[in-house]
Amino acid sequence: MSSPDPDSWVVHKFGGSSVADAACFARVAAIVEAQPGRRLAVVLSACKGVTDALLQLVSSAERQDESWRATLQALRERHATIAAALLPAAVVQEYLAEFDRDVADLGSVLRTTQVMRTGGQHVRDRVSGYGEIWSTRLFWRTLQQRGQRRAIHWVDARACVVAVWGPLGPGIQWPLSTERLHKLLAPDAATLVVTGYIASDAAGIQTTLGRNGSDFSASIFGALLSAAEIHIWTDVDGVLSADPRRVPDARVISALSYNEAMELAYFGAKVIHPQTMAPAVGRDIPIWIRNTFAPEKPGTLICAHPNSDQPVKGITSIDEVALVNIEGAGMIGVPGTAHRLFGALREEDISVILISQGSSEHSICCAIPANQAARATRVLERAFARELADGQIQSVEVTGELAILAVVGDGMAGMPGVAGKVFSALGTANVNVRAIAQGASERNISVVVAGKDATRALRAVHAGFYLSPHTLSIGVIGPGSVGQVLLDQLASQRARLAREFNVDLRVRGIMSSKRMTLPPAGIDLDRWREQLLQLSEPADYERFLAHVKVDYLPHTVIIDCTANESVARRYYDWLAAGVHIITPNKKANSGELGFYRSLQAARRASGAHYLYEATVGAGLPVIQTLRDLRETGDEISCIEGIFSGTLAYLFNVYDGSMPFSAIVRDAKQRGYTEPDPRDDLSGTDVVRKLIILGREMGLALEMSDVRVESLVPAGLESGSSEAFMEQLPRYDARMRQRFEAAKARGRVLRYVGRVTSAGEATVGLMELELRHAFANIALTDNVVRYTTSRYCDNPLIVQGPGAGPAVTAGGVFADLLRLATFLGARL
Ligand code: ASP
Ligand code: MG
Repeated sequence: MSSPDPDSWVVHKFGGSSVADAACFARVAAIVEAQPGRRLAVVLSACKGVTDALLQLVSSAERQDESWRATLQALRERHATIAAALLPAAVVQEYLAEFDRDVADLGSVLRTTQVMRTGGQHVRDRVSGYGEIWSTRLFWRTLQQRGQRRAIHWVDARACVVAVWGPLGPGIQWPLSTERLHKLLAPDAATLVVTGYIASDAAGIQTTLGRNGSDFSASIFGALLSAAEIHIWTDVDGVLSADPRRVPDARVISALSYNEAMELAYFGAKVIHPQTMAPAVGRDIPIWIRNTFAPEKPGTLICAHPNSDQPVKGITSIDEVALVNIEGAGMIGVPGTAHRLFGALREEDISVILISQGSSEHSICCAIPANQAARATRVLERAFARELADGQIQSVEVTGELAILAVVGDGMAGMPGVAGKVFSALGTANVNVRAIAQGASERNISVVVAGKDATRALRAVHAGFYLSPHTLSIGVIGPGSVGQVLLDQLASQRARLAREFNVDLRVRGIMSSKRMTLPPAGIDLDRWREQLLQLSEPADYERFLAHVKVDYLPHTVIIDCTANESVARRYYDWLAAGVHIITPNKKANSGELGFYRSLQAARRASGAHYLYEATVGAGLPVIQTLRDLRETGDEISCIEGIFSGTLAYLFNVYDGSMPFSAIVRDAKQRGYTEPDPRDDLSGTDVVRKLIILGREMGLALEMSDVRVESLVPAGLESGSSEAFMEQLPRYDARMRQRFEAAKARGRVLRYVGRVTSAGEATVGLMELELRHAFANIALTDNVVRYTTSRYCDNPLIVQGPGAGPAVTAGGVFADLLRLATFLGARL
């Protein structure tokens, strides 16, 4: 959209799927009318499927199959229906009158074909060309009827484009074609509707530009009119960085050079045929690839010098390739071996896709289409029979079931590290590379890999160049109170983290205890609540993991927000598989020591990270502080503190004026306790936290090593929680006595956990001086005191709210970002 010159031409070409039916025609007309006020040449293909149907007519007639008559009528019906939807009756009549002349003409050609039993190329060219005539006449009338554009002319390309077929396809006679077009053009012409696909040969006989030739037509008219731009309208958003069926994360490339587009096209990317571009390339006309069905999208620009800092544009592959390898000491320094190898293949018409020879000249290998492998083996064994017999060449090996992966981009030239990235991505994805080729243009690096690895290889290399390396694929287990707050926090921070730190957080699945949701494109965080309602499938750990751990995203993390032992049991397998785990769930780290150690070993072996800051003190930096102390060489002699928000609350509030049981009842009503308050009063939760800290200090502790004072009176351990609450007042006097005794000594009661470097671990009620740090905390605060060789006289204290969904989720989120930094993100 460079030149604003109102007299300059812009060519717009619409493919068959863009003119499939009446709605399509109207859409195309609207696009054409919305173009800024320059002169437009609109090149159209035949309506979708029509060229195929026309060629079928010829084949049927050759087979003496009369069904061509009905098919021809059906084609007429199809066009008549579209015309009727778009045009007034009188104009439809006009259109159909012309159409019927064509049908009569076609009828005589096909009857002759039926008699002759063979059509030949001229007949095929003539018959298949009607599709473009019909679509353009229809569109021309439609545009006229809509009355938005001025001076609209129908151009029959056969009257101007002269194409002569040679071994490389149709060659355009430029001077003659230019002269004819300019003679044909009315001086006022502002809008041309041009038939794609068809042309005339030097003798004036109708020919075509080959299948899908309308793109070529667009480029030819672009050249003939010295157009400022060519727009190829199709049914995709532009040229994609990879085949989206194989790389779900493929994205539209905003700009490509002509050369890049040609390389990608050669390697099978569904771009635009290289030959098609040639006329535009020679005249430096920019080509846009755009989507008829989403005209607001920018599309892809193909031009000589695109503005782009992306070194790699696309990653494509050729499947079903075989590798020919000849090897032998006798080849070293002997000229002519390569010549004989390629000569033999050429004689058999076997085309070579890629060549690689090591500088030792000890072997040469090349890739060929797999379906020619057997033939290649025979030919080469024959060609090198003498050398093979003499042992100068040891072997001619042909290996099938391979694929070539090509990484394409102009920016690779002179940029160190691109090849390194390709190979490290392949290495990380565990893909073995069989052969490599990079041309001196440095525009293309091709690697041969096993066919079965091709998709994985494509995804890995694509991720290496197109994704943030800090892309985390996340599975959330346990969408309860903590899980839900976490999802909200992720939703609100996701865009900022991506923008500022290049950290790309993608929640791919959510699982509750019974059900799960695994949307194919992942969870849309802005509407996760809705998607959660569709927890539509029964929970299944294997399927959940398979969905989250997709190989086109670099890292996988499971966030376990449950308090569930059975989920914790899975950590070993996940860590061993390289899946990172983040959790506030204490069950794994406070389980048997052997299991805990196996988790740490699995983590170390696979390189996965296992983060659990929120298991102790929720979001407070309790574990991180401990690690920092140890890693910097400080010696910890004791960690003690109040680790239960619930018990902190009970003893902060209890002042003897109300019975202890009443305070428990009130706390239970406020939701400060577990549904069964014994889970808090027993001290088990504190024991678990103490075990986690003790093990983090390097101690080999089991839960049974901890001396616990349970606040559940003896005899009330079992039975319903209601019965327990009823019985509890019977013990109020005892608690009152302890409270008063402490008070008399100027002290208060606090439920404290303590672990020392000697391995002593205790949990229970203690009397503390009023000045003591643990005596002065608010509500559900946790407080942790570290006594170390550096912090001995005046210990280090971490204190603050240590329970509740918001701070627990905050702690989990902090671990997630810590994980991103471990993976290289810079926050
Ligand atoms: N209608 C022709 C074909 O289907 C040309 C084109 O669509 O580009 O091959
Ligand atoms: Mg087509």
